[in-house]
Amino acid sequence: MEVTANKTKVSMIQGDITRQATDAIVNAANSSLMGGGGVDGAIHRAGGPAILEECKKIVARQGRLPTGKAVITTKGNLQARYVIHTVGPIWHGGSRNEAELLRSAYHECLKLATENKLASISFPSISTGAYGYPVDEAAKIAVSTAISFLKEQATSLKDIVFVLFDSRTCQSYCTALQACPNHFEA
Ligand code: ADP
Repeated sequence: MEVTANKTKVSMIQGDITRQATDAIVNAANSSLMGGGGVDGAIHRAGGPAILEECKKIVARQGRLPTGKAVITTKGNLQARYVIHTVGPIWHGGSRNEAELLRSAYHECLKLATENKLASISFPSISTGAYGYPVDEAAKIAVSTAISFLKEQATSLKDIVFVLFDSRTCQSYCTALQACPNHFEA
């Protein structure tokens, strides 16, 4: 399913983000940027060692990536042009600023894509795997952050795609998109 906000399409698909041909794909990384399980492992496996090499340089230069921040690297062997790595919050029950940190993770990726004049970006469901964030809540934050971003600032982005790995997660994101009151043309 899809909606258009300020001339940018926001859509949901079920699939594997490593196969997306958008300008950027987003990695739900951890602060070490050294790879891991889940979507992080899948991206490094599919992209090859060039991505990890660049991640190591970034960490050597600026230290671990704080939760809610994002950095951009090469795509290695992937079809996308860039990988944007962000760190979502670990779910601790909701009282440790998780919602704001998750919002920040999406927002920083969208900002980085805009600064790099990218036309399209794919997101996985950040924090809802190993990090344990409840999917319905995370979906609402993901969708509302994207729509607010499109309403609030000019962007090169024409396509924002949420690539959800399983049908349950895909359903949550579709429901969140349908429920979002702000998705009409400004
Ligand atoms: P986190 O540590 O941020 O929770 P995970 O990688 O554990 O990240 O999970 C985030 C989401 O990514 C989960 O919904 C998981 O099913 C999904 N996922 C795993 N592999 C892929 C993939 N290849 N493409 C898209 N989503 C994926």
